[in-house]
Amino acid sequence: MSKNQNKTGSYSFFNCIEKNFDKAARFISIEKGLLEQIKACNSVYRMHFPVKIGKEIKVIEAYRVQHSHHKLPCKGGIRYSMKVNQDEIMTLAALMTYKCAIVDVPFGGAKGGIKIDPQTISSENIEKITRRYTSELIKKNFIGPGIDVPAPDYGTGEREMSWIFDTFLSLRSGDVDALACVTGKPVSQGGVRGRKEATGLGVFYGIRELCHVKEDMYSVGLDVGLVGKKIIIQGLGNVGYHAASFFHESGAIIIALAEREGAIYNEKGLNVSKVFLHLKNNGSILNFPEAKNIENTEKALELECDILIPAALENVIHKNNANRIKAKIIGEAANGPITPEADEILDKKGVIIVPDIYLNAGGVTVSYFEWLKNLSHVRYGRMEKKFRENVNAEFLKVIETVCKKTISIKEKKMILRGPREIDLVRSGLEDTMINGFHKICDLKKSLKIENMRTAAFVLSINKIIDSYEKLGIFP
Ligand code: NAD
Repeated sequence: MSKNQNKTGSYSFFNCIEKNFDKAARFISIEKGLLEQIKACNSVYRMHFPVKIGKEIKVIEAYRVQHSHHKLPCKGGIRYSMKVNQDEIMTLAALMTYKCAIVDVPFGGAKGGIKIDPQTISSENIEKITRRYTSELIKKNFIGPGIDVPAPDYGTGEREMSWIFDTFLSLRSGDVDALACVTGKPVSQGGVRGRKEATGLGVFYGIRELCHVKEDMYSVGLDVGLVGKKIIIQGLGNVGYHAASFFHESGAIIIALAEREGAIYNEKGLNVSKVFLHLKNNGSILNFPEAKNIENTEKALELECDILIPAALENVIHKNNANRIKAKIIGEAANGPITPEADEILDKKGVIIVPDIYLNAGGVTVSYFEWLKNLSHVRYGRMEKKFRENVNAEFLKVIETVCKKTISIKEKKMILRGPREIDLVRSGLEDTMINGFHKICDLKKSLKIENMRTAAFVLSINKIIDSYEKLGIFP
């Protein structure tokens, strides 16, 4: 048993990340102290605060962890779940540091969490708790456009981000950059178009890129390309739903979807938007007319498929079920869905694992775009859209004159179009995910690293080292 394992032989969540970090450190020659500094969590703020719910006073437990200050502000989501604890939030904050470095987002990693079950609390009370949490963060200087910028995560969304912004603004009135204190806001409140679906779309781009690498596909006995690949997705929340929709649209076949209450299966494929509508109308994905129910939701992970996308929670693939996983590719849309023991088992089986620190970085990438938009106080495309359209029109005129040919109205429309905010955000995201993928693969090849996870960690740690070396260490 290693020093990182507890009495039952399993690792704490933070130890899992340390273990992955140590594997990568073998490929890096640098002073040990600097590696220890990169690994450590810089600040942990654990708080308890009272909130009046009905006639009772409830004491709420919450956290904000800033893992690294090598770049500022810190950045990371806030989750609402009864499973929230210090170890979990520290781990997720560390993942954010490595993630940001991989996709060249200039932030240190952070994470927040409130130990509540949002499904059993009224929206009024969730608002009270969110606002009180925000004011606690303000009191301790743990939030601000240049300090620490939260975003949505498990159990939170645009609504909570709006409340955080409004609370910040009311306590920091006159701060012209206040909008940049939180990302993932609704578009009407300074959000950016494309943020909601960004993590799921990033997952799609990352897996699509992998499916185009011949040698990887042949190594697991699959054809090149995404069309026709059989996919299982766990979690139909923000990340899982959007990832499922993009896979479905691209011609992949979603054969199973798993939620808390159970899973549904159809070998010929599920229509994702119809399933989502069914979920909305019935409060459950079960009994979807065109599918078979699977009562034990965990069993869905073990079905025959090409690609498995866990997009719900951490540690869902562990030493007890890893041997039964039949997927040839696992895309970690959720944070930390595979334990280190399971990782080793799957590695030995030759499964390609696309790691969370790369694959779900689409959210923070577009959050970065939102933060930039808030600081520049202007919508993407506003300054250049019309100018581009005018220039394109001039070009078209010249082409028509030179070629003595009239271009059809349909083609003209396509060519004339200037970029809208959503176009720019999506192209920035696509470029980021493609670049990140190839940087990891190039490093994996050149250093002969055994898998993508270790290569991703090496890439990330090298970038953080570079940043510390250029910055120096304050005496
Ligand atoms: P979410 O709350 O929107 O969705 C999570 C979904 O998982 C819900 O539909 C929930 O019912 C389902 N779920 C819960 N327990 C389950 C179980 N045992 N089996 C199957 N389904 C279950 O959360 P999200 O924002 O989609 O986040 C999902 C994961 O992605 C988390 O690990 C989160 O940290 C990670 N992530 C999210 C973002 C983001 O932008 N939201 C970014 C990066 C990473």
